[in-house]
Amino acid sequence: MIENKEILVTGGTGFIGSHTIVELVELGYTPIVLDNYSNSSSSIIRQISLITGKKCIFYQGDMRDKVFLKSIFTKHQLSGVIHFAAFKAVAESVEKPLHYYDNNLVALINLLGCMEEFRVNKIVFSSSCTVYGVENSLEPLTEQMSVGKPNSPYGWTKWMGEQMLADIAGKSDLRPIFLRYFNPIGAHPSGKLGELPLGPPNNVLPYITQTVAGLRKELTIFGKDYDTPDGTCVRDYIHVTDVAKAHVRALSHSFNSNFDVFNLGTGKGTSVLELVRLFEKITGKPVNYQFGPRRPGDVDALFADVSKAKKFLNWNAERTIEDAILDAWKWEQYRLENEIS
Ligand code: NAD
Ligand code: UDP
Repeated sequence: MIENKEILVTGGTGFIGSHTIVELVELGYTPIVLDNYSNSSSSIIRQISLITGKKCIFYQGDMRDKVFLKSIFTKHQLSGVIHFAAFKAVAESVEKPLHYYDNNLVALINLLGCMEEFRVNKIVFSSSCTVYGVENSLEPLTEQMSVGKPNSPYGWTKWMGEQMLADIAGKSDLRPIFLRYFNPIGAHPSGKLGELPLGPPNNVLPYITQTVAGLRKELTIFGKDYDTPDGTCVRDYIHVTDVAKAHVRALSHSFNSNFDVFNLGTGKGTSVLELVRLFEKITGKPVNYQFGPRRPGDVDALFADVSKAKKFLNWNAERTIEDAILDAWKWEQYRLENEIS
């Protein structure tokens, strides 16, 4: 365990960041939270405090603003950084590549400049299975595979982020960990914290919960002619609190090399149609859906080999896809009842 417990959490009011803050507080860390609310809202800070019973230290600002970023490093004795802040919508990145390269890479470059200046060496970087550049994984994807060609500018920002961190790690004391997420879903089991998409959700589970809650007319399942058992895409859905816990484990990882990389998934693939059927079974609510054309950038099937995280981070998914669906539905109802937006 590291001594000084102030950890900078960039993008901390976002979906995964907010759940990680709860885990950090529960384990005695002091998260220093930064976000520009480009894809989140101030209500999340209140919800985090409601769960933890503690006030968060929060700074609103953009990581591309070097003066703002440096002011946080000046005020706090940080012992590490968990870097979530990024734009993440694959299709939008295809439409607006410069917007994605600018935000995701300039933010990281500024962060690394501050870390070097203030001698902060530990960074956990939000990466993605998209860096494997694989279309259809008949076998689980392992970290030993070489990274491929991501299928979107968003994916390339993760690929380049990893490369940048690895290059710097080879020349300095920086010790980065790349966590390659598969598909984080769900919400805090209390139902008081969850994903809060601004506008129509891009991701499938929030689209399902909003459809069933009456906020959307119907779910469109993108494509039914993929090379999968039922023709719909297969993904490895993992509960967001499990993803959050892995970040806290990563903070006390012992390195045998300049940097390290771990997949975060369950090891099990689920198709979109199976996800819809599971939602109906667990909640007893029918999901109104239709099939539509394939979504650009989507690939057939992706799922993780998770043995490395088990071995070296002593981490594995504790919650099931059923838990994640139930928690996401609980959160959808809670946020509507409490008018959280
Ligand atoms: P999110 O959009 O909910 O959270 C990201 C947060 O970063 C948002 O609150 C946003 O306002 C903030 N942000 C973005 N740019 C910023 C900037 N320049 N300065 C300050 N704040 C900024 O996303 P998430 O689902 O919590 O994802 C977190 C990280 O994990 C991202 O880096 C994402 O690319 C990566 N990731 C997510 C998934 C997923 O399915 N959710 C999968 C793989 C990787
Ligand atoms: N999906 C869908 N309808 C939606 C959103 C997503 O059918 O409204 C499908 C999408 O095509 C993919 C799967 O659900 O096969 C997971 O998509 P999501 O955007 O949640 O995550 P991704 O795997 O793209 O990171």
